[in-house]
Amino acid sequence: MLEPKPIAKALGYQSIQVPVAVRLNTNESPYAPPESWQKRFTAEVTNLELNRYPDRDCTSLRAKLADYHQVNPENIWCANGSNEVLLLLLSAYGGASRKAAFYEPSYLMHFYISKITDTQVISLERNSSFKVSADQVLTEQEKNKFDILFLCSPNNPTGNTEDKDQVTAICRRFNGLVIIDEAYVEFSSFSFESLIHEFDNVAIIRTFSKTWAMAGLRLGYVIANKEIINHLKAVTLPYNVSSVTQVGGLLALDYENEMKQRVNLIIQERQRVINTLKELSSLYVWDSEANFYLIKPTTIVASELHEKLLEHSVLVRDVSSYKNLENCLRVTVGTRAENDRFLDALNKILK
Ligand SMILES: *Cc1c(COP(=O)(O)O)cnc(C)c1O
Repeated sequence: MLEPKPIAKALGYQSIQVPVAVRLNTNESPYAPPESWQKRFTAEVTNLELNRYPDRDCTSLRAKLADYHQVNPENIWCANGSNEVLLLLLSAYGGASRKAAFYEPSYLMHFYISKITDTQVISLERNSSFKVSADQVLTEQEKNKFDILFLCSPNNPTGNTEDKDQVTAICRRFNGLVIIDEAYVEFSSFSFESLIHEFDNVAIIRTFSKTWAMAGLRLGYVIANKEIINHLKAVTLPYNVSSVTQVGGLLALDYENEMKQRVNLIIQERQRVINTLKELSSLYVWDSEANFYLIKPTTIVASELHEKLLEHSVLVRDVSSYKNLENCLRVTVGTRAENDRFLDALNKILK
């Protein structure tokens, strides 16, 4: 039998799926989409002609997204989740003759998608505040000659944003493609999306999986210069976004206020939980601009804390094997009741 590529034999990207009462491991929204959205979605899905292929270019959806972002539909491309957007970007710009810089710790799918597309990965390190500076990027680019740079703001799993000045300087001075993953941007105070008007080498990645509370819908998109969009179009499999998904996304955009209300609730909860955790002496917690936060227990091993939380039916993400995150866990912000169950379990375990 033919040997697969090494990446196909690795375990790949995994987040365990087990039935628990409090699921705080994948940064999903703890809230369902609005009831009115559900009703309209169900009605519209019933009317779809599912014997027909979907609109290949997502014309209506891209027009509405363009409106939302004050850009042209030619600046937007949609895919089956933002991970597929990343795959399209690497299919168009990566490959065996190209190198992508991955600043650790960050979202591991950036690494895996590079590997899947045979793109060489240059693993580099963030500074002690988990940020990437322009001088660092340019020095390391000179040395390693990478073509693609992954940034993530707010960064998963550390929760911090990148600095505006630094990222602007990077886009100005680095000739390659700058991919800025903004999966969590609505939980933070600013976006880098306006950079697409200034630079033609920037791709901003967005998703409906987190703030829009629609991880199950599988809808992500990129905002970029129209030449980039045309290149992505060329490598997209036909009909990659289903009719059902297109309808769901179109309707979702009518509920921006509800989305913002959900986001505000989660931000309030995030601050409440982080402030509570800061009182504990047996644990260090980082500030966050996302819907999750990073903790580091000081009196127990992270994997053991992870196991003990599971015994209390609370599932969080063990990120202790990530570079420079020794003994750290990442916890998603849930509903108030879920967060209280987490805090309660934590107090019992650490006591
Ligand atoms: C969750 C997440 C995504 C979302 O991926 P989808 O395929 O859109 O569900 C993308 N990027 C980062 C950094 C994430 O954490």
